[in-house]
Amino acid sequence: MKNEVTYRGVAINDGSTIDKLKEQATDKEANLFFSLCENNNDFIEVERFKEIIFNSGLQQSDDRLESLFNKLHNHKNNISFEDFLSIIRTSPLLVQKSLRGELAIPDFQDFSQNMDKIYEKVKPNTSGELASYIPPLKEVDPEQFGIAIVTIDGQVYQRGESNVDFSIQSMVKPFNYCIALEKLGLEKVSNHVSAEPSGRQFDDLTLMTRNMGGSSLKPNDRVPFNPMVNAGAIMTTGLINPEDTPTERLQYIREEFGRLIGWFKPKNASYYRGQKIEKKSNIDMPRFNKNVARQENFTGYNNIATGFLLMATGNLPHSGTEIEEDKHKDSEYEFDFHVEPGVTNALKLYFSLCSLEMTAKDIAMAAATLANSGVCPVTQDRVLSQRTVRSCLPVMQMAGMYNGSGEFFQDIGLPAKSGVGGGIFLVVPQLMGICIFSPRLDLVGNSIRGLEVAKEITERYLVHLFDGTMTDTKRIDPRLPIARWRANNCAEAIWAASNGSIRTLERLVSSQRNLEVGDYDRRTPLHLASAEGHIEVVNFLLNEGVKPIPDRWGGYPISDAKNNDHKEIVDIFSKLDIEYTEPLHYIEDPNGNSDEFAVYENESLVIELLFAAAENDVNGIRQLVAQGVPVHAGDYDSRTALHLAAAEGSLDAVKYLVSHGHPLYVRDRWGATPLDEAKREKRDSVNVFLTELMK
Ligand code: GLU
Repeated sequence: MKNEVTYRGVAINDGSTIDKLKEQATDKEANLFFSLCENNNDFIEVERFKEIIFNSGLQQSDDRLESLFNKLHNHKNNISFEDFLSIIRTSPLLVQKSLRGELAIPDFQDFSQNMDKIYEKVKPNTSGELASYIPPLKEVDPEQFGIAIVTIDGQVYQRGESNVDFSIQSMVKPFNYCIALEKLGLEKVSNHVSAEPSGRQFDDLTLMTRNMGGSSLKPNDRVPFNPMVNAGAIMTTGLINPEDTPTERLQYIREEFGRLIGWFKPKNASYYRGQKIEKKSNIDMPRFNKNVARQENFTGYNNIATGFLLMATGNLPHSGTEIEEDKHKDSEYEFDFHVEPGVTNALKLYFSLCSLEMTAKDIAMAAATLANSGVCPVTQDRVLSQRTVRSCLPVMQMAGMYNGSGEFFQDIGLPAKSGVGGGIFLVVPQLMGICIFSPRLDLVGNSIRGLEVAKEITERYLVHLFDGTMTDTKRIDPRLPIARWRANNCAEAIWAASNGSIRTLERLVSSQRNLEVGDYDRRTPLHLASAEGHIEVVNFLLNEGVKPIPDRWGGYPISDAKNNDHKEIVDIFSKLDIEYTEPLHYIEDPNGNSDEFAVYENESLVIELLFAAAENDVNGIRQLVAQGVPVHAGDYDSRTALHLAAAEGSLDAVKYLVSHGHPLYVRDRWGATPLDEAKREKRDSVNVFLTELMK
C-alpha cells in the first residue's frame, strides 16, 4: 500500500510530504504541480508536460520558450516537484499562464476543433473566380485554402495551406498606413489622406474635396477618401521616407512589416573563439516578387493616372530633385519631358508593396500585432504605437472590404482587409488576428471562402465588436474556458434561486438573461427554488414567464417541492396545465457508505468544474484544480464532478478525478453515488472502472 498523503483535503499519493510541498513553494505553485501529476504519480512526465503546453496553443518554435524546451530536452523523463519549481521559476510567466488556462483563448483545443469544423464546412465551396488582371494571379492554384489564427499571447492555429506564400496585394494597405502614421502622426497624415468612406470602386479616380461648400475652398484641397482605396494607398506610400531611394524605402517597409510578423534584426552578437555568433530570427521578412511588381507596372495605368492626379493636388511629396536645365536650348521644338520623380517613385513603391508575398500564418501574426495594440505577440517588440493602431482599425472597419465593407462590418463586426490575391485578414482587438487564404473571389474582389469563414466564426463566437449589445447564450465567448462559458450561462441564476435571492434574479432579468437555462443535469432555477422552498422565487420566476421543464431524471420542479414537503409550492404547480412525469433516480444501496463532498466558496467555479467533468474536459478540470478548486466540490444538489463524469461516461475525467483524491461514495441530493449514476446511464467502462476500485 502506498503512503497516503493528503493535500487540501484530497489524497495525493506522494513520496514526499505535503509539508515539504508547502515549505518550498507558494500555494499557487503547489496547486499547479498537484494539478499536473497524473495517474497517482508524484511527478510529471516530460512528454506530457510538453503536450499540455502545445495543447494550449503555444509552439515549439516560439522564441520565448526556447530556454524552457532546452531544459526539458536535457531533463530525465520525470519532473519532480523540486525540478518543476526550478523550471517554472526560470521560465517566462507565459508558461504558468498556459498551464493554468490563462492565455487569451484558454480553451485552445476546443477552439481549434471548432475551427477545423469550419474549415471542413467551407472547403467544398468552389465558387468565384481568380483575379485575372495580371498573369501571375491567373496562374495560382485555385483550390488552395488555408486558415491561420494567432492570439495576442502567441497561440497559433493553422489549417490547410497556411504556410504557402501568396500575393498580399491590397492587404498591405493598412500596414502602409500604419507605417506612415508612425513616421508622421495622424495630424500630418490626414492632411494627405482622409478617413471617409468613398462609396466608389477601390480604384476610382475621384478624390474627396475637403471643405465642401465652404467659402475657403483651396484648389489643392483634394485628398483620397481613405488609405484603403488605391488613391489613398499610393498617397500613404508616397509619404514614407520620400527622401530615400525606392530600394531603401522598400527595404525599410519590408523590415517594419517583418517586425510585425516576428522577424527581428540579428542581434545579441557575441564572439566565440573569434567567430561572431548572432541570434537569427526564425521568421523571414515578407518576400518581394519582382515579376508581379513588373506586371503591376505594365498594366497599372489606372494607378499611374491616380499617382499623377495626386501629384496635381499638390499633396504628394516631391522628390526634391531640381528640374535640370534645358538640354535642348538650340532646338526650336524639342525639350526634355519631365516627370517629378516623387510620383514615379511612389508608384514604383506601391506596385512593389502590392507584390509582397507572405503566408497566412505571417499575416495572422501581423493582425495579432494589431490586435495586441502594436506589440508583436512572440517577440514583444513594440512595432506600432497604440495610437497608430487605434487610428488604423476604424478605417479598415469602414473600408477594408472593397464595396462590401459596410455589410461586412454589419455582419461580422470586425476590422478586416482583403486583397485580390485571395487573402482576408481580420483583427479581433485584444484577442487575435485571423487570416484566411483562398484565391477565388466574388464580384467585388473578396475571397469567397474567406468571407464564409469569417461569417462562420462570428456565428459561433462572440467576437463581433457590438456583441456586447445582445444577450446570447448560444454563441461561445472564446475568452473563457468553455466550461466557464457554460457555467456563466446558468450558475448565477441557479445558485440565486437555491439561496432565495430574488434581487440577483431581478438583476439577471433586467439584463435579459434566460432563466430557463439548465445546468449539466438540466436543473433550472425553478427546480432549486422548489427544492429549497423559496415560494417567492417560484412565483417570481413563473411571473417572468419561466416554464417548468424536466431535468436529467425526468423530474419537474413539482417533484422537488413534493420530496421536500413544500406543499404550497406543490399547489402552485398543480394548478398549471402541465402533464408532469416522475423522476427516475437509481440508488443501489441507500444505506451504504457515504463520503463528504467539499463546500467551496466560489460557487461558479464549482459549476464550471462539473461542466468540465460532464464534457470529459480533463484540461478544464486540471486548470480548476490548479486554481485550488477541490476536485470533490459539490453543487446545490450535492452533485460532484465524479457524479457528472460517471453519468456522462467521461472515463478520462473519472480517472483524473479519482487519482486526485475524489472520494467515491459521495451522494447527491437523492442519495445516488457516482457508480449509481454510471449504472443508471449504462456507462459500462466507467461502471467497470469504479466497481473495480470500490471492491
Ligand atoms: N494591385 C492592385 C491594384 O493596385 C490591388 C489589388 C487589390 O485590391 O488587392 O489595382
